[in-house]
Amino acid sequence: MGPDEVFCRKCGETKPRVAFYDQPHSTLPRRPCKACILTDKRARYAAGDGDRVSHAQVLREKYNLTSAQYEQMLADQKGRCAICGQLETARGRGGTPRRLAVDHDHRSGVVRQLLCHRCNLVTWAVGENPALLDEVRAYLDAHARRAG
Ligand SMILES: [Zn+2]
Ligand SMILES: [Zn+2]
Repeated sequence: MGPDEVFCRKCGETKPRVAFYDQPHSTLPRRPCKACILTDKRARYAAGDGDRVSHAQVLREKYNLTSAQYEQMLADQKGRCAICGQLETARGRGGTPRRLAVDHDHRSGVVRQLLCHRCNLVTWAVGENPALLDEVRAYLDAHARRAG
C-alpha cells in the first residue's frame, strides 16, 4: 500500500486517496470510500430511508411536527387509520406502502390524527361540511337497495 493509497474496510479494497472524500478539520480521508458511501445511500433509499428525509421535511414544514412526534402518533394509533382502523394499503413510489397522512384542520392548522390515503381523501373532499357524508351515505344506500 503506497502513501497515497487508503484501505477501505467496508469493501476490503485498497484505493487511491482520490477515491475517498476529505473530512473537515482533518487530513485523514473520510471512510468508507466514495463508492461504498454511494452504495449505502442507494441501499438506504431503496429501504425507504431516502424517503424519510423528505417526509421529515414535509412534516416539519407543513404540520410543524417532528418525525418523533409522527412516530408517536403512529404508535398511539397502532399504525392504523384513525377512521377506518385499517393499515394503509395504498402504495407509493417503488411499491412501498404509503405512510398514513397527517390530517389537520385546514382553518386552524391544528393537527388531528393520522389517516389512510382513502380516508384522508374523503375527509379532504368533505372538508368543512361533514353533513355531506350523511347525504353520500343515503345516496349509496338508496342505490344499493335499488340494485339489491
Ligand atoms: Zn469501499
Ligand atoms: Zn382509513
